[in-house]
Amino acid sequence: MSAPALGSGPLSTRPSYRGLTAYNVESVPLRFDLSDNTSQLGAPPAAARALVEFAADAAVLGARYPSLYSPVLRELIAAYAGVAPDEIVVGCGSDDILDSTMRALSEPGTRLAFMDPTFVMARTFAIANSLVPVAVPLTAEWDIDADGLIESRAQLTYLCTPNNPTGTTASRAAIERVLDEASGIVVVDEAYGEFASEAYVAEAPSRGRVLVTRTFSKAFGLAGLRVGYGVGSRTLIGEIEKARGPYKVTSPSERAAEAALREDVPWMRAGVASVVESRRQFMEALRALGLTPLPSDANFLLVPVKDARAIAQALRAHGIGIRAFPGLTRVGDAIRISIAPWPIMSRVVSAMREVLSCA
Ligand SMILES: *Cc1c(COP(=O)(O)O)cnc(C)c1O
Repeated sequence: MSAPALGSGPLSTRPSYRGLTAYNVESVPLRFDLSDNTSQLGAPPAAARALVEFAADAAVLGARYPSLYSPVLRELIAAYAGVAPDEIVVGCGSDDILDSTMRALSEPGTRLAFMDPTFVMARTFAIANSLVPVAVPLTAEWDIDADGLIESRAQLTYLCTPNNPTGTTASRAAIERVLDEASGIVVVDEAYGEFASEAYVAEAPSRGRVLVTRTFSKAFGLAGLRVGYGVGSRTLIGEIEKARGPYKVTSPSERAAEAALREDVPWMRAGVASVVESRRQFMEALRALGLTPLPSDANFLLVPVKDARAIAQALRAHGIGIRAFPGLTRVGDAIRISIAPWPIMSRVVSAMREVLSCA
């Protein structure tokens, strides 16, 4: 009898991955894509110029590795965030920081507590890293449930403020309690920090057990380049860098993010101000339609509706992409709409009026 050919047996995959699916959101070409909270104002001008300059040297630079840990970019982030360069880890989007943090700081089988609803990747990365996800529902006032999170005695706790997809901000009192009393490390995701009035990024290093994550994908308008960062104590950052691995930020991305911090911060702040004003007008217009959007400190609104999928589909017929969230904890069905300049939002309002009257 001959031995079975190599590679002929059934493919064995990880049992714990069977409940996971690859991230997949519908991405059809639409006139207005308001589905993913990226900037509707385009990329920042100096960053775009840096990419063109990079392209001119591409024949040489394309063949080389980027820097190992982005020292220049980290110095610029340090000045922007009000911390020291060695209190920063950069990565391929803040997703990469979340993933690396779980790998670096939790042993497989330990708990990751997170607020619910929140950013779906918290749960996905937990399972992908063999952690046990523990969802703790938000309070009736859309605050984090500090007691519930603390009582879960998780090795790692994930908070997001302003929170995606609710847009709501956790109270300082509740966050302080979690930071003081949680048994392990607390990650505070500030992907929308530039739109909010409160931020924890500057105080993260001195608190020791906190990592704040941020990104260039939202207010800075550079989602295509995949640059994010984490801020925390030197000890924490050192551990995360071990898990992250080298060369995670590509050289064109590094150049563009550096240029954005050198020259585009006023552009970014003006963009944030225009989004906040457009959000205010959009909120009023939706209320006039009889809807009750959740309060938002981010660049999107979450709007409870009867049938989220049906409304998303009807809006697609108007060339408008939004994200449907059926059956969210505490909220029920809801749609999340990113905020564009008011002329676009006013068209969204007209489309919504039509869609709701047909529903
Ligand atoms: C968009 C988003 C991110 C992902 O950011 P990247 O830097 O693009 O990976 C992280 N957290 C939250 C809450 C987000 O909404």
